[in-house]
Amino acid sequence: MSTMHPQRRLSSQKMSQMQAEGPLGLTMVASAVTTSPTLAINEAVAKQRAEGQEIIHLGFGEASFPLHPLLQTALSEAAKHTAYAPVLGIAELRKAIADYLTRTRQLACLPEQIAVGPGSKPLLYALLQVLEGDLLLPVPSWVSYAPQAKLAGRNVIGVETDSADCHRITPQKLTMALDCARNSGANPRILLVNTPSNPTGSMFTYDDAEAIALWAREKGITLISDEIYAELAHGWREHISPACFYPEGTIITGGLSKAFSAGGWRLGYAMMPPTEQGLHVITALRSLGSEIWSSASTPIQKAAVVAFSPNTELEDYVRRSARIHGYVASWLYEVFVGLDIPCPRPAGAFYLYPDFSPWRQALLKQGVTTSEELALYLLNKWNIATLPGSAFGEKPEVLHLRLSTSMLYTPDGVAGDERKAILWDLLAHAEQLPSQYQADGPQLTLPALDRVQKRFTEVITFLTSIQI
Ligand code: PLP
Repeated sequence: MSTMHPQRRLSSQKMSQMQAEGPLGLTMVASAVTTSPTLAINEAVAKQRAEGQEIIHLGFGEASFPLHPLLQTALSEAAKHTAYAPVLGIAELRKAIADYLTRTRQLACLPEQIAVGPGSKPLLYALLQVLEGDLLLPVPSWVSYAPQAKLAGRNVIGVETDSADCHRITPQKLTMALDCARNSGANPRILLVNTPSNPTGSMFTYDDAEAIALWAREKGITLISDEIYAELAHGWREHISPACFYPEGTIITGGLSKAFSAGGWRLGYAMMPPTEQGLHVITALRSLGSEIWSSASTPIQKAAVVAFSPNTELEDYVRRSARIHGYVASWLYEVFVGLDIPCPRPAGAFYLYPDFSPWRQALLKQGVTTSEELALYLLNKWNIATLPGSAFGEKPEVLHLRLSTSMLYTPDGVAGDERKAILWDLLAHAEQLPSQYQADGPQLTLPALDRVQKRFTEVITFLTSIQI
């Protein structure tokens, strides 16, 4: 008798018939949503590595320095707190975050303005559920914003930016998108921005932040400012929140994931404006959170109080992490400059957003016409994992890729305590590094970087050789 699982024997036609008639049918929403491309590339890389292939993994963005011992101790001590927490967060944490934002962003922030949740991602989704109107979204933007907005039933209106202008968001571009959307019957009321940016690594200048904020105020648009990478500014450009120029209309989101390399802790916050409307939004978030996640984990919240309270050791750890991210991102940026690959200069986070359009003709000969095909080509022919620009809202034929540089700090295959020791050693040497890589400055010995340089040089040499 066959041991095959019975379902495997069903034809796909029969399967879809059963789906329509039988149990476990899916809604239109479920079928419209796919796994986030970031997670999908990670799975593809794991599979190729398991087959013995050596992959340069630039596809997954995760801050992965070892947890600081102060936070580890705080969490161990908090393990005994097993009760549910208030939906908007425990009082000590809301106060610690409010004080932290007052200290670091020059904003007068009160605990009542803070909502804590299981990561900033669900808070962003909740905001898109409770705020009125359609969403203006710069192109390129982080992979999850548009799917979240669509899940919340919103139209997403792309705000086009110029690659040659490092994807700056300007009032002119915003007005064009707004007018166009209104003419086609949409009702844009929200603008979502992100500085430092995933995918470009760029940061708003003071003037950019002011211009965007004043534009939103003039048009009566709610501004959501995702500042999850604020602490990871590399040091040559200061982080400026647009909320400084439009406090009554801006909501800031952030969390522990990037600055403290603690994505798995799932702890984020949203800061509402200090107004009556801000209070209404936080009340709506509370209702929504109460029906979905109840509260962020209580022990994690207790430990997060330590993370957001003044502490020179932790501040030093975060600053050093930012320096390493800056060193590696700007190192690879210089490689791209040397290879004539256009790319915005990274100022924060751990991303690069190079443009491969100068090799369009050569890529065409390889059957590559879209960023998705380019990412697949690099993965399959050159063993380089990246994410296509299309995942960030670009038109398919725009040949940008998003590269994450945070997986290049340790050699492949090194794990556990050995990996931690390498990362602690890097952090110990971080203070001597400049805020951007300098060829004649102090250097870190990172074998992965040489490998990446060699591989991209081979790719570009090959493409140049077949270009018309
Ligand atoms: N915003 C951006 C731009 C991100 O890149 C990420 C995570 O990758 C998040 C938000 C989500 O962060 P959290 O871990 O707080 O949910």
